[in-house]
Amino acid sequence: MLHHSEDAIRVGGVTANPGERACGHWQVGETQDGTPVRLPVVLLRGRQPGPVLYVQAASDGDELNGIAAIHSFLRDVSPNALRGAIIAIPVVNYHAFHARAAHSPVDGKKMNRCFPGDARGTSSERIAHTIFHGAVLQSDLCIDLHQGGVKPMIDEVRVRVDRDHERHGDCMRLAATFGIGYILDEEGPDGQLARAATDEGIPTIDPELGGTHGWDASSVGKGRRGLLNVARAYGLLPGRPRPPDRQYVVRAFTPIRPSRGGFVHYAVSRYDFVDAGQTVATMHTVFGEPVETVAAPVAGIVWSQSVYPMAATGETILTLGVDIEVLDDWDLPREL
Ligand SMILES: [Zn+2]
Repeated sequence: MLHHSEDAIRVGGVTANPGERACGHWQVGETQDGTPVRLPVVLLRGRQPGPVLYVQAASDGDELNGIAAIHSFLRDVSPNALRGAIIAIPVVNYHAFHARAAHSPVDGKKMNRCFPGDARGTSSERIAHTIFHGAVLQSDLCIDLHQGGVKPMIDEVRVRVDRDHERHGDCMRLAATFGIGYILDEEGPDGQLARAATDEGIPTIDPELGGTHGWDASSVGKGRRGLLNVARAYGLLPGRPRPPDRQYVVRAFTPIRPSRGGFVHYAVSRYDFVDAGQTVATMHTVFGEPVETVAAPVAGIVWSQSVYPMAATGETILTLGVDIEVLDDWDLPREL
């Protein structure tokens, strides 16, 4: 169901009339000394009716690339050129963001297991509930920006509903349109926004923009281009999307774990295609001696590696994306 309204858009007390951009804070709770807990909201309402795009970042509070991707994307959007509306919340996990941590220190929860939320639940569940009902449900398309941490992933987009879900094709089309070349198509755990919003009929994707905890210019740039591709393809902005000609879809991950503990000397890098039996790493002891050659059990794409060079027995040192399909000619969305 598309929101073809020409009316003002309102989120948490912030209002943007047709042709306006509005910024403000949305109070979603209080800290223990009564200081308001407020989320930043940016609204852009075009002069013409059209779809509503919702985008959020920092659901895991230390995943910061999405914040920069939203800032950079919105700098290029004039409400006068826009059809429909954009709702952006650059920091959704207030407590975790301030603690520079992934999970909220108030309840220890990962916000991306709390959707659609609970109005009488814990801190993270209440914030998720407020965002979901006050912002996400106003949208036609939803994008939840994430990234890897100390196990950086390739830049990719995740589709988190089951392949039998009635909105699965719409989510795959949105992922291919975002267009950063790699898609994980695998049902995610309960409580993910990419499942909860899709269950409400809103196609949702979870781009993963690289790794580390700082701002990485390459991953941020891919996030910005992905948001522009979506806005253009779905008719919010003029111009044509430019996803890559060839994109890869994987349907599962295979973790690779050494038997010996020690230091990892990688023989491959992220984005490499490896064959079954190919050496991916050599383990060295703390004395510097090689003790184990680690091979890929199956063919796949090197999807993530640890930034730390050391690992204990059984610790995942590398993840392969497996069950690979090539998308040569994915249908872009038709005009909405
Ligand atoms: Zn995340």
